[in-house]
Amino acid sequence: MKILTQKASNCQTNIFRLANRVPVQDIALRYMGTPKKGKWWRCPFHQEKEESFTYKIKFRCFGCGWNGGNVDLVMKLFGLSPLEAARLICRDFSIPIDDHPPTKEAMARVAEVRREREREETIKNKIEQTYKETALLHRVAFQLGMDHVEVVLADVLDGLQSREKARQIEALRYARKWWLA
Ligand SMILES: [Zn+2]
Repeated sequence: MKILTQKASNCQTNIFRLANRVPVQDIALRYMGTPKKGKWWRCPFHQEKEESFTYKIKFRCFGCGWNGGNVDLVMKLFGLSPLEAARLICRDFSIPIDDHPPTKEAMARVAEVRREREREETIKNKIEQTYKETALLHRVAFQLGMDHVEVVLADVLDGLQSREKARQIEALRYARKWWLA
């Protein structure tokens, strides 16, 4: 029994070492997607408009201060245990291990988080686009002295910039319905 435990713990140390040895840029591309600029991403762990998440030897966010290695990132991104995160990395990078592949539950969780992140990314892009177009209309309304319209547009611009998600979505729907259908 003692030997078995010893063996398991050796495998596990090994799996963490292997997972952490994958180059950080490969991990970033695989789990964070293609960055919009250079090697900077929007931090997945706090709300931000500008990208402040990057890597050197490890990952680091200059916005919220989060930092960590490969396994830390994958754990936190998908809400996995350290072991499941290491298993996922080894599986995704075809690293042979003397351990199990990730469980079905872990894989389902990863898929779910990925879908959720894609949904959020789509909404963020829509909000940015709508903001640009509405700001343009707002300028025109201002120049033409269309006071009433200008007030409505200004209100929607405020909503789009709001930190409250519900308010952002409401402004987005309004803009799409009335002038960006
Ligand atoms: Zn952050």
